[in-house]
Amino acid sequence: LPDPDLIVLEPDDVGYAWRVPGPRDDKYTQGVTGIAAGSANYPGAAVLSSGAAVLATSGMVRYAGYAADVVRGRWPELVATGNVEDAGRVQAWVVGPGLGTGQAGRSILAAVLHEAVPTCVDADGITLLAANPALWDARDPDAPVVLTPHDREFARIAEPLGIKLGADRVAAARELAKRLDSVVLLKGNATVVAAPDGRTLVNPATSSWLATAGSGDVLTGLVGALLATGLDPWLAAGCAAWAHVRAGELAATADASATADEETGVPTPASRILEAI
Ligand code: AMP
Ligand code: MG
Repeated sequence: LPDPDLIVLEPDDVGYAWRVPGPRDDKYTQGVTGIAAGSANYPGAAVLSSGAAVLATSGMVRYAGYAADVVRGRWPELVATGNVEDAGRVQAWVVGPGLGTGQAGRSILAAVLHEAVPTCVDADGITLLAANPALWDARDPDAPVVLTPHDREFARIAEPLGIKLGADRVAAARELAKRLDSVVLLKGNATVVAAPDGRTLVNPATSSWLATAGSGDVLTGLVGALLATGLDPWLAAGCAAWAHVRAGELAATADASATADEETGVPTPASRILEAI
């Protein structure tokens, strides 16, 4: 039987959901995205995540973390500080890419989870949560969370809860979403986005050129920018996944002689996916 709660995302859904500024808008109504990513060892993740938030039409992007100088140098429109508490007004946070799994990253994650705004947790943020359940218990209960795991990150956070990632990826994402009362965006060749209330969408569009280092970091900035506009977190995650694939496709056809066929597209490193947003 068809599953009434399973939606296949169409480009029109994304066009409808994406916020376009009008005459009455300003940078705050358009949304302030906060990025808590990167570390001394991994400043690139901060550049990619922040850059995606800038290019995805955030009203403003604020960065907090150890890569402030690198990020500021790359994105002049962004405001950077050393820590989350000093970041100022933020309407949605992204935390985790390149954060590291040590004490410094853990403190940043704890600070973000205390903020009462929608939050996207990815990468080392997910790994830290899996290892430190107390951080999860101490989060602001009113802040919606979007988790964006790849398969290994999914296993890290789901297996201790008794949830296995088998052939039925929709069922696994739904189960985790319910258990953690969060939106779960399970990455892969076809991305699944499950909400705690059972709504689930699949993005049938795909580009295997996305399978490259830093690609997931770009996705987080898209999720953050859409969350900051006030969009429903499940829809924000789905639209971000769609825009990510579209950017991958555009980047893979950046060479006019190439076709949209992913087998023959031009090599697409994450920097090029970012530029295609
Ligand atoms: P990450 O592993 O965090 O860098 O994220 C990788 C990104 O690339 C996610 O958005 C995945 O959905 C996407 N991706 C990875 N492998 C594939 C693939 N074989 N085909 C399509 N998309 C992929
Ligand atoms: Mg990743």
